[in-house]
Amino acid sequence: MSKLVLIGGGHAHLIFLRELLTTSIPHEIVLISADPYQYYSGMFSGFTEGLYEMEDIRVNIEQLCDRASVKFVADTIIGLNPIDKTIEGSSGHTYSFDTISINIGSSISKLVNSTAIKSIKPNYKFATSIEAFRLGEQPVVIGGGSAGVELALSTAAWRKTNKKEANVKLISSSPLLSSYGKKASIKIRQVAKRKGLEVFENERIEHLNQNFLITDRNHNIKWSHLLSLTGPVASPLFTENVLLRDAIGFLLVKNTLQHKQYPFIFGAGDCATVEEYPLLPKNGVYAVRQGQLLTQNLKRYLENQDLLPFIPQKRFLSILSTGNQEGLLTYGPFYLHGKIPWRIKHHIDKRFIDSFRF
Ligand SMILES: Cc1cc2nc3c(=O)[nH]c(=O)nc-3n(C[C@H](O)[C@H](O)[C@H](O)COP(=O)(O)OP(=O)(O)OC[C@H]3O[C@@H](n4cnc5c(N)ncnc54)[C@H](O)[C@@H]3O)c2cc1C
Repeated sequence: MSKLVLIGGGHAHLIFLRELLTTSIPHEIVLISADPYQYYSGMFSGFTEGLYEMEDIRVNIEQLCDRASVKFVADTIIGLNPIDKTIEGSSGHTYSFDTISINIGSSISKLVNSTAIKSIKPNYKFATSIEAFRLGEQPVVIGGGSAGVELALSTAAWRKTNKKEANVKLISSSPLLSSYGKKASIKIRQVAKRKGLEVFENERIEHLNQNFLITDRNHNIKWSHLLSLTGPVASPLFTENVLLRDAIGFLLVKNTLQHKQYPFIFGAGDCATVEEYPLLPKNGVYAVRQGQLLTQNLKRYLENQDLLPFIPQKRFLSILSTGNQEGLLTYGPFYLHGKIPWRIKHHIDKRFIDSFRF
């Protein structure tokens, strides 16, 4: 019986585990993840705003593994040796494998080392980080992409409800939501203004001192808590070993989700770049899509069958929470802002997370 080791309890592995509840695979399967829970980022904004409790936004991976007859180990993997077929955990343990699948997400680049800078990655840090951040005297979010916009607006909404000063700031080196197109940028700017968010667009931080930061447009901004959401960077796991990576350090896989050099290594979600689609956005939508394919391909690989290719959809529905149970829905050039998008988002997110509960 060969041994399949799953590293990380990300979206793709949750889908694989869910499949194992109804289909058994005659192999030893172990899942090693940094925490017994997987926190679902689609509901981070709702938690920030105070609409969801901790239990609403997380999946108990350990329990899911138990039901799927998979051994769960809580450990952070810090080394991988494809020649010996071993991985090393921060606990000091070494684990052997025959086949491995990696779904550990991405990291966030650190501006500077300071305890005041809140990190929400790995995602089990999210809840405690955001609870401290939203209480901060001078909370500043850095990054004007979807994550930065959502958490800045949700923090502003939470502060309003909880009678805290309305002084949340958002700094973005590009126009807000630039990857969503001009119309979405214009709309979110109007929404941010209406909700009292102070936005600094097309500005970069040049200096960061203890209590102030200075931008390249010479704005001197007071801060007590910083939340850095400047886009995904590769996990240090790949920078410190001999695996083939893309130009910015992510695990490079073929469209079958197998590593090019070592076909017994699979990768899915944010941590991997599919060679055929290097510019594919790193988001939960594609992590879920890849999870469905990964599930089939891991089974096919273990049964010596041909593997299937990943073919991403061209467009995807995106709904960002903008606070006060409102959302911005975009689909290609189409967009809609208001209560209805938020209700659709709530329904989709709840259905997804409930599919891992029993
Ligand atoms: C605030 C915010 C809101 C977002 N909202 C959305 C949204 O609405 N829709 C959307 O599509 N995308 C959204 N995203 C992006 C989305 O979070 C990521 O693209 C998605 O989580 C990637 O999924 P994943 O399965 O690859 O990894 P993750 O969800 O990050 O899961 C990785 C797992 O691996 C574990 N892990 C990490 N490192 C190790 C290690 N070294 N060893 C062992 N285990 C490890 C972690 O504990 C975690 O369980 C959002 C991101 C943020 C920051």
